[in-house]
Amino acid sequence: MNSGNALEDLMRHMGLTQSEILGRTALLDWQPSDAQRLNAVAEQMNDAQQRFVERLYDHLRRFPGPATLISDPATLSRLAHSQLDYYQRLWHGPYDDDYVASRVRIGLIHQRASIEMKWYLAGYRIYLDEMLHTLFPQHEHQALFASLLKVVFFDMTLAIDTYSSAQRQALEDSEARFARALRGANDGIWDWHIEHDRLYVSERWASMLDLSRDNLGEGSLSWFSRVHPDDLPGLRQAIDAHVSGANALLHHEYRIRRANGDYLWVQARGVAEIDSSGQRRITGSQTDISARKTVEQQLRHAARHDPLTGLGNRLRLDELLQQCLQQLGKTGAREAALLFVDLDRFKLINDSLGHACGDQVLVEVSRRLRHCLRPGDHLCRFGGDEFVVLLTDLACADDAEIVAQRMLDCMHTPMHIADQVLVVSASIGITALQPHNASQDALQAADLALYQAKQAGKAQFARFSAELQVSAHYQLELESALSQALERNEFVLHYQPICRLEQGSTRLVGVEALLRWQRGDTLVPPLDFIPSLEESGEIIRVGDWVLAQACRQVRAWQLSGQPHLHCAVNLSSRQLRQDDFVLRLTEILLDSGLPPASLVLEITESQLLEDSTATLITLRALANLGVQLALDDFGTGYSSLGYLKRFPLNILKVDKSFIGGVPGDAELSVISRAIIGLGQSLGLEVIAEGVESPEHLDFLRGQGCQLAQGYWFSRPCAAHELQVQFSRLAAGGYLDLAASAGVTAEAE
Ligand code: C2E
Ligand code: MG
Ligand code: MG
Repeated sequence: MNSGNALEDLMRHMGLTQSEILGRTALLDWQPSDAQRLNAVAEQMNDAQQRFVERLYDHLRRFPGPATLISDPATLSRLAHSQLDYYQRLWHGPYDDDYVASRVRIGLIHQRASIEMKWYLAGYRIYLDEMLHTLFPQHEHQALFASLLKVVFFDMTLAIDTYSSAQRQALEDSEARFARALRGANDGIWDWHIEHDRLYVSERWASMLDLSRDNLGEGSLSWFSRVHPDDLPGLRQAIDAHVSGANALLHHEYRIRRANGDYLWVQARGVAEIDSSGQRRITGSQTDISARKTVEQQLRHAARHDPLTGLGNRLRLDELLQQCLQQLGKTGAREAALLFVDLDRFKLINDSLGHACGDQVLVEVSRRLRHCLRPGDHLCRFGGDEFVVLLTDLACADDAEIVAQRMLDCMHTPMHIADQVLVVSASIGITALQPHNASQDALQAADLALYQAKQAGKAQFARFSAELQVSAHYQLELESALSQALERNEFVLHYQPICRLEQGSTRLVGVEALLRWQRGDTLVPPLDFIPSLEESGEIIRVGDWVLAQACRQVRAWQLSGQPHLHCAVNLSSRQLRQDDFVLRLTEILLDSGLPPASLVLEITESQLLEDSTATLITLRALANLGVQLALDDFGTGYSSLGYLKRFPLNILKVDKSFIGGVPGDAELSVISRAIIGLGQSLGLEVIAEGVESPEHLDFLRGQGCQLAQGYWFSRPCAAHELQVQFSRLAAGGYLDLAASAGVTAEAE
């Protein structure tokens, strides 16, 4: 700061305004006549002044402090000269603003030159004493007055010292308190004078960075050049926002480089001040927040990672996926893909070996999957036994299939977990990522492909395609419409005759009820919607409806001229698993009036396998009820012949895939023959399905198979269409179904 500024600052600080100066002169009773009186004799006092200066330095030289100051002759002569000017002006004036300013300036210079106040006052005392001798040389009380001057000046030194010491002490106390508080807070202090770019930092500020204050420059560069390049714009913005008044305080966290090159997380707080001349300075603290940042980072990590496998979780995946999609939008970006990995039958491991074992399997799987990836790819645990892989920087999207295959292969090696040897497999859905995809869409696409892989038999991968989406969309629409089909009376039953082959003719013995869904103008075949009904559990209610409807219809036909007609109804495994199935069936039979012996329930081989003990109990209860049981589609399932004896079966239905090949296909003919023979030797009735031609019929006759069903006799048809045939029969005719083949075709 230059001396002009320092003087102005000091005068402002002293409160030396015009009115203060006037007040001071009034207090001293200063009158214009005083000035005139002094001015009038000013010239005569020159010699006395000269004498005074000599006397002053003679006197001061006796005291060690001032003596060192004036030991140099050049300094002495300069001081003596200005001293003379100073004292002469007491007499000469003028006593204007400049007079005041020059007095303060000289005081300031003396203070800076370490001239103590008591020496200063001692000088005034000698001065007055010298003037006393000059003005009143012969006065009788001269000595007395000189003594009075001494004691008055002694008092004055005491009074001034008392004031200034007391103030200094208060200041020192407050500074000490401040210093203690700072030590306690362990914060560094900084003070930046923006216009002059002068930066003061405390020792603690520097020691946080393992530096000493002396190693740091004086400008703000010594601060800003150490700030982490990524954080510097933010810090500058925060400072600007505060200095411009947009923010009440500066409050900013950033990283700053330490002596060893590491970065330390700190928090800067500060307030800016603008002095009356518009100069800005900003002062504040710097706190080491690295411990808090570490905890925050740990929490952040915990919130984004799975504790079991250490892999990123769903939240982390979302971040990575967003980043990846953004990256893809940039020019020159290569392909990326998302893989949804799901373990096959993992629930079985958890249920049979316990969750601890399941956890170990997941850890091992994650380890193996990780080994299949390159650095830069990401593996996350999506939840349960689901993992998501993000492949980036692929040369072409097809490379994802190579990685997927590698993942499937790495599962083959058996795992040794808790004294068990386990082999697990996984299914994988793959989707290529597109730059403008929403992350949710990408996940959905991969999930859909995964579903496809599972449907196709598990332990394989499938790729998302537009067709897959169309069929999923169709499936979704189908399912939502299906859930309302029962309430809207959209289900209908078609009936297909079952015939007994007699010498030269056929006789109708029963009908198989086959479900259809009338969806608008289309008649949807059962294989298109029954799996959905089974999955949703709706098959229970729909199956009840089929049973009730079929029993009622066949009972009506029995009463109108077909007394021995059998009713065959297909059952789904979920129906059979219902605890109260037998009870509900009894009610349905009672309601319809159909004798239990007229009802045939068709079940498949896989149903028998599912839970054989419970199934056996239910089937026995059904047999006790008098209901007949048929094993449908025989030969297409697992064909364990043991259960043919074990379960109370009455009928074996040979699947149409065998009959379709006779008599041309030698192998199928052999199998068909064997199945028919097997059924007969076990005392079961055998029904051949899918009879479409006279050749089929001749073959069956040749094998002694007496019951048949197929398009040759009739396609499944609506109840009223079949009714026409019954009426013909009632009118005395013999029903020759073969003659009507093709005529009763379904409107499919
Ligand atoms: P399924 O029980 O084996 O029924 C026989 C299927 O073969 C029927 O197909 C029938 O239309 C067809 N069919 C009959 N004769 C011939 C022929 O000469 N040639 C050929 N190629 N096919 C013939 P549909 O009606 O499409 O039924 C398919 C399957 O849907 C049934 O097989 C049955 O497993 C299931 N299903 C039908 N209705 C129901 C039901 O109410 N409940 C349950 N759970 N399943 C049903
Ligand atoms: Mg059937
Ligand atoms: Mg069948």
